[in-house]
Amino acid sequence: MPTPSDNDQAIRLAAFNALQALVERHGEVLSWDRIAEGFQLHGEQHLFANRTRGIFWPRQMQETALSIKTTVPRGSRVARYDDDNVASDGAFLYKFQGTDIEGRDNRRLMRAQQMDAPLIYFYGIEPGFYRPLWPVYISDVDLPSHSFHVMVSEPEMVKRPFVADAKLLPLERRYTTVQAKKRLHQAAFRQHVLRAYEYRCAVCAFPRTELLDGAHILPDRDERGHAEVSNGLALCRLHHGAFDTNLMGFRPDGVIELAPSLLATRDGPTLEHALKGFVGKTLQTPRSRDLRPNQDYLEERYERFRKVG
Ligand SMILES: [Zn+2]
Repeated sequence: MPTPSDNDQAIRLAAFNALQALVERHGEVLSWDRIAEGFQLHGEQHLFANRTRGIFWPRQMQETALSIKTTVPRGSRVARYDDDNVASDGAFLYKFQGTDIEGRDNRRLMRAQQMDAPLIYFYGIEPGFYRPLWPVYISDVDLPSHSFHVMVSEPEMVKRPFVADAKLLPLERRYTTVQAKKRLHQAAFRQHVLRAYEYRCAVCAFPRTELLDGAHILPDRDERGHAEVSNGLALCRLHHGAFDTNLMGFRPDGVIELAPSLLATRDGPTLEHALKGFVGKTLQTPRSRDLRPNQDYLEERYERFRKVG
């Protein structure tokens, strides 16, 4: 197997490090503006990706690509990750640029497969927002469907790729890809729910995104694979925790209740104001009807709250 050149490898590692720093600072989902800032190597500015092209490499890279990027159809509210679950080996399917495998962009990915070169996958969560996955590898090429199979691996595997038993490598990648899909799903759900609720807690209207979650009304429904906003509520950490543990409940008409055990106690400002203070008030939900909580889900969940209480 040919090995990637030092030049390309240096650019790649600098990109991975810069991306790690971006994610640590801004979270797992990055806006295009952040990605477009690019990264530095030896005082030179490089780009991670290109706004319009899917397959990208900086002009300084000679052999393979640096990144691939999916786009979300214009005007679509939901990323089409379901389409990606088709590959029988669990891989993401990434469409060729055009239909010709010999095209300039596709050849760069073919080369990446031959060299087992790690890439970045900027996965579209919604227009203008991406969840970067790295390192990813082209594990297979499917000519009939014009797509590459893309597998995710652990970042530390890039630094010591020869430590791993060659037989274990496909297993590691398959496992990591499954995990990555789960996290993508969660990230997409959170992103859609927070946006629908205009980045505020449905109970207290607290507005800091860092402390907001996309809470599930019915946890088990999520298994079916759709990130339905109507099964979600944007909640701050405190109210999410209270909801998940059935200390706080929401009537199907949106009125907020507390568990009798909490109502019976007296304590400091967190209990008196941040929890009891909202009893009898109504959840603030999106204006658009199809983004509001599903009545059946609320009813089912409220029954659980009442039983536990
Ligand atoms: Zn809150």
